[in-house]
Amino acid sequence: MRTVSRVAEMRTACEEARRAGRTVGLVPTMGFFHAGHRSLMHAAREQCDFVVVTLFVNPTQFGPGEDLGAYPRDPDGDASVARAEGVDLLFMPAVEEMYPEPGRTTVHVEGLTARLCGASRPTHFDGMATVVAKLFAITGPCRAYFGRKDAQQLAVVTRMAADLNLPVTVIGCPLVREADGLALSSRNAYLGSEEREAATALSRALRQVAAEIAVGERDAVAVRRIAIDTMASEPLLTLDYVEVVDATSLEPRARLAGTVLVGLAATVGRTRLIDNATFVFEGGADVIADLGVTSPGPESARPDARPGDS
Ligand code: AMP
Repeated sequence: MRTVSRVAEMRTACEEARRAGRTVGLVPTMGFFHAGHRSLMHAAREQCDFVVVTLFVNPTQFGPGEDLGAYPRDPDGDASVARAEGVDLLFMPAVEEMYPEPGRTTVHVEGLTARLCGASRPTHFDGMATVVAKLFAITGPCRAYFGRKDAQQLAVVTRMAADLNLPVTVIGCPLVREADGLALSSRNAYLGSEEREAATALSRALRQVAAEIAVGERDAVAVRRIAIDTMASEPLLTLDYVEVVDATSLEPRARLAGTVLVGLAATVGRTRLIDNATFVFEGGADVIADLGVTSPGPESARPDARPGDS
């Protein structure tokens, strides 16, 4: 595996791979790898000839008072994980390399960024979409892998690539969970043991929703209530939102039909957590529930994790 930090090196490496007839797979990340990240690298490795992982904690997608300074970092550990996953190129640019001067161009995906996490993080999706557009421009034609853990991000990036005719096929990959249901996240490193326990209320709420949908619940207000009540029973948790939306447009749904995303967010202590499930209603009583997959190994077995280092 080669590690580069310059935009020009990254661009050239991807161009050379394509010139040699190889397909390029891109996995954009902010690092502190866990099994969710690894699943994206694995999918890219299976489907593409030249696998590129980007590791960049993008300052412009953090709002004032958010956790940019505390965001967990472990570049050496991450490089070992990427190498073990068979990644060909790791791109780790400095902030000055990505933003030699403050950008005057912002990619804003109208509508899809206003609700859900956009309501409490009003600048987040512009920062994210802009840096992903930059990474797509640097990489060039490729398949880009994103996790459904960040369902709104996936919807925004998919729409951005379509609207801007970017030469990138955006691929959504399953949400990976720990054995007790907690969605893997680099931010889980912030959680103390009681908070870690409390955090399972998010996935419990989604399982409760799935159980009610399985026995016929189709009313969005009732579905939201089920999730809110489940999370309210956990005193360490403060609810941010529960939303029932169309999975592509992210527009609110009153009745459950088509493909529906149930997204939720809450803070535990000072840590903000998100989770979601997708339900496909096929008419009649049939419904396909996608709550993600369980990680094959105990995630806490990251030997060199030093949460909070930055
Ligand atoms: P991050 O480093 O948190 O910005 O995430 C980088 C990529 O990994 C994004 O596409 C995320 O959606 C994806 N990802 C993060 N956590 C998970 C997870 N638990 N399951 C699947 N994908 C994930």
